[in-house]
Amino acid sequence: MKTRQELIDFCMTFPATYEDYPFSDIKDIGIWTIMRHGANKKSFCQIYERHEKLCVNLKCDPLEADVLRQTYKDITPAYHMNKTHWNTVIIDGDVPKEELKRMIEHSYDLIKPKTKKRKLPKLTKIYELLYKRYGNLNWWPADSPFEVMVGAVLTQNTAWSNVEMAIANFAKFNKLLTPKLIENIPIEELSEIIRPAGFFNQKAVYLKAVTEWFSKYDYNIETVKRGNLEYLRKELLAVKGVGKETADSILLYAFNFPTFVIDAYTRRLLERLGFENIPKEYDNVKAMFETALPLDVTLWNNYHACIVINAKEHCKAKPTCTNCPLIGVCGHSALVNLEG
Ligand code: SF4
Repeated sequence: MKTRQELIDFCMTFPATYEDYPFSDIKDIGIWTIMRHGANKKSFCQIYERHEKLCVNLKCDPLEADVLRQTYKDITPAYHMNKTHWNTVIIDGDVPKEELKRMIEHSYDLIKPKTKKRKLPKLTKIYELLYKRYGNLNWWPADSPFEVMVGAVLTQNTAWSNVEMAIANFAKFNKLLTPKLIENIPIEELSEIIRPAGFFNQKAVYLKAVTEWFSKYDYNIETVKRGNLEYLRKELLAVKGVGKETADSILLYAFNFPTFVIDAYTRRLLERLGFENIPKEYDNVKAMFETALPLDVTLWNNYHACIVINAKEHCKAKPTCTNCPLIGVCGHSALVNLEG
């Protein structure tokens, strides 16, 4: 880097940099190229000629500035600038090219706007905002706890609207959706009824399995409710087709146990809000919520419901952030605004 243009080109490699010529109207001062940061207009490199030599003024940490002046004869306290914080470097002298580049970069780092670390919203604050918008959603949308269980199985890998069609089909087939029905109905017939939910052959097997589990409690909701949460969760997880999300949905929404449901919407929301190091394991994300929130089944019930509704209305695969209740605390929307 021996010419003004080479220096300018190098400076322009730093984000948001532009060149400025504020002294062009002043006679006898020569051409001063001032390289500035676009966001705060501060300069980090001033290029000019003095005694027929090309020079740059660069900002520098004061302690380092002293060391550099003692090391290189072509680095001196800055001409026309604060001499504690700025150095002048004569170009094409004894300062190696790599050292000069490093000094320019250091100067840029000193003047660039400091980015404030965004404060993450607390999980309680997020719920507060969701609740304010959606209120109490009275989940799960079902006529009975057993219908919740059926819905929790049918909703795997499909949209809720398909589950609604599948459940409505029981009436169309003149069947009353009860545990006894699922226990006794031939599996082919059950598959046909739940066809709209997709994967119907598989899901028919799962429905039979979860119903068999329920039969151990004589199909009595109150008996299950008197059970131990951890024990019941383990039992459910051993049932064919029941994963953690399904087990927790059944325990929370059918039997009112305090267990937080984690799904893909929850993960997506956490990521977009800006949470870092989100655990990969389901149980650890669940623990994140359960330890941050008061032990309140109604709150846990409605929190998950709000996350789902917000994911459908705003936080979709391609989010529509405008009017989202979380826009004020969301890292993703902040990013979009910045880029926009
Ligand atoms: S502001 Fe946008 S990205 Fe953030 S939660 Fe709302 S919809 Fe999702």
